[in-house]
Amino acid sequence: MSFSENKLIIAILIGAIAGIICGWLFGPAMVSVAWIGDLFLDTLKMMIIPLIIAAVISGVTSLGDIRKLGKVGGATLLYYATTTACAVLIGLFVVNLIQPGNGIEQLSNIVPEAIADKAETGFVDIIKSLISPNIISAAANTQLLPVIVFCLLFAAALTTIGEKNVTIIRFFDGLNEVMMKLVIWVMAFAPIGIFALIAGQIGKAGGGVAIKNELLAVGSYCFTVILGLTLHFILLFIILIIFSKRGKEYLLKLLRALFTAFGTASSSATLPLTMECAIEAGVDKRSVKFVLPIGATINMDGTALYESVAVMYIAQAYNMPMGLGDQAIIFITATLAAIGAAGIPQAGLVTMLIVLNAVNLPVEGIGMILAVDWFLDRFRTTVNVWGDSVGAAVIEPYLPKENS
Ligand code: ASP
Repeated sequence: MSFSENKLIIAILIGAIAGIICGWLFGPAMVSVAWIGDLFLDTLKMMIIPLIIAAVISGVTSLGDIRKLGKVGGATLLYYATTTACAVLIGLFVVNLIQPGNGIEQLSNIVPEAIADKAETGFVDIIKSLISPNIISAAANTQLLPVIVFCLLFAAALTTIGEKNVTIIRFFDGLNEVMMKLVIWVMAFAPIGIFALIAGQIGKAGGGVAIKNELLAVGSYCFTVILGLTLHFILLFIILIIFSKRGKEYLLKLLRALFTAFGTASSSATLPLTMECAIEAGVDKRSVKFVLPIGATINMDGTALYESVAVMYIAQAYNMPMGLGDQAIIFITATLAAIGAAGIPQAGLVTMLIVLNAVNLPVEGIGMILAVDWFLDRFRTTVNVWGDSVGAAVIEPYLPKENS
């Protein structure tokens, strides 16, 4: 790792720790620095659409013609599906073991407004969200899924038109390089940006004492979620070692992206940094461009795990026993709900409705976990980004040989 990379990681670490300390000690006063965090976040968001369009099109076309896509695509989907399923199983295991919801007395009967509107969300909505009738408006509203589907189709068609595709492909390759250069520039502001995001958010939540009280009220729930996420993080690390022969070095290289995920609570906003870190770590660019943009949008291990724990916690609190059949439904729906969750803060809370509805639990249950969701969101987003990063490394061997 180069000296300047090392310095940046240390600076980001200091930024994150200083953010926690300042937010904790100075509380609401730190809201005054939140705008700096928003500026950093907006700069990252500004890059998402052009970066995704350029990366997916140049990534797919660099794989060769459309027939070669099958093997990489299949391996990628298999990786996403199995790791997400493992995450849900880990979630169900820890929540059954610790039973954090048993004996809770204060049940909620308030449905948060943002959630109440979406109470009817179902699977068909997830499938429908794959396609937008207006790709420009989807891009303008940062709806990444339809944009990615369009780019995949566009790139696949591009590989079938012979010589005429050369100029178009070179354009998107160039655009991708430019976007990655911008990412490197923006990365220099990560330490201060992450400091402000964390300090501002803790300040908004009322500072150390207020947070401590909130966390203590649902302490064993938070502990269960964080324990599950930690176990899954370790599992992904083992998968990394076994399937890609990478290890600690890779994790260290990815730290900047993981801290950014923690700071922003958004895998989409972190995507530019995740891509840059994975490329610096030596992962084949074709894998980075193909696996990471799609992963940041649909592969959410942390969210899937979180949803299974949260739903079981609500069931335990309402004293509604969940048998093996119900847990099997939770397993399937939490996996699918995580795919449907956007890579933005607290998106998992909305898609969790699908899981609650599937096992007939009251939507009001969400009120019980709302207060600490912003906090747990940061942990699950970090695991989401780690899952994507490990994916890029694991899929690398399945790429077709260059120029074959
Ligand atoms: N904030 C998460 C992400 O961006 C999604 C969620 O679980 O709410 O990955």
